[in-house]
Amino acid sequence: MTKKTLNHPIACAKFCNVLLATILNSGFVVAQVTEPKPEAKVEAKPETKTEAKAETKTESKPEVKNESKPEPKIMDAGVSLKQNTVINFAEICEKTLSEFPGKYDKEKLKQACAKTELFPECSSVNGVPIYHYNRIGTSKDSQKILVFSVIHGDEVPAGSVGRYWMERLESIDPRNTWRVVPVLNPDGLKARTRTNANKVDVNRNFPTKDWDEKALNYWKKDTKSNPRRFPGNKSNSEPETQCALRHLDEFKPDFVVSVHTPLKVLDFDGPKIKPPKFDYLPWKSLGHYPGSLGRYMWFERKIPVLTMELKEDLPNNTQPWIQLQDIIGLLVGIELKGVPK
Ligand SMILES: [Zn+2]
Repeated sequence: MTKKTLNHPIACAKFCNVLLATILNSGFVVAQVTEPKPEAKVEAKPETKTEAKAETKTESKPEVKNESKPEPKIMDAGVSLKQNTVINFAEICEKTLSEFPGKYDKEKLKQACAKTELFPECSSVNGVPIYHYNRIGTSKDSQKILVFSVIHGDEVPAGSVGRYWMERLESIDPRNTWRVVPVLNPDGLKARTRTNANKVDVNRNFPTKDWDEKALNYWKKDTKSNPRRFPGNKSNSEPETQCALRHLDEFKPDFVVSVHTPLKVLDFDGPKIKPPKFDYLPWKSLGHYPGSLGRYMWFERKIPVLTMELKEDLPNNTQPWIQLQDIIGLLVGIELKGVPK
């Protein structure tokens, strides 16, 4: 790979398009933001398979091929990414995601990973990039779905789902706009720990209103200071939490999916709805905690959160993941509309 460096990512206002095209053509992406907007031209329809070939043309230049897509922008603030540092996210994405258990489609994964992007603040305690993948929905009233997998680093099968959904989104014309952050806790994944490299449970570190009052007390009393559930010494102290918040603030999802193991339920924090039919896992509410994503997003912001608690073993085939992705698409696009929050 040719090495390219970008000295002044902010100072490119006039030349962003040229610069971005150069960066994207080179296979490197430096801190760009896509503002997904529903496209107005296609009627709402079920998520159907389409010609996979349509996407393969765009493999190395995802953002410049489609005139109707919003223009990506270089970050204009908070440039904490070390200057002169260019990271090839595509390679990191391919390598990391290919190591999750289960079958995967090498070409599709390569194609999806070539489109990953990175926010400057999205790197782990140990400096590993926390990249994300975007797919714009085709429905005129498409909703935005944000998926986090591997918030807990020892819940490895969660990464297989994130990977599969990225691959599948390369093969379909989704109604809704999807963003997948396939590995939110890369240091935990590497060390196979639930917590991040600072030994903090990222899913107890979200700045819920009750965090200062309750998070540490809850941890001490209710979990008996279980080190796996340590919420940190203050809320939002961890770079992984800050990255997640960046996505929540910028993408403004209508629905959040958080992929975990091994409790074998679909834990829904959201309005009362008739549970969708899904035989693979039951639909239940397990509750929420000070500093958890569910409390932060649903109980404080009224954005529903589906916590997928998978089995330890992967299913024999990808059918449950297909079905679940479609269920989520339907829920967000149809079922949840007009349901009182
Ligand atoms: Zn978990």
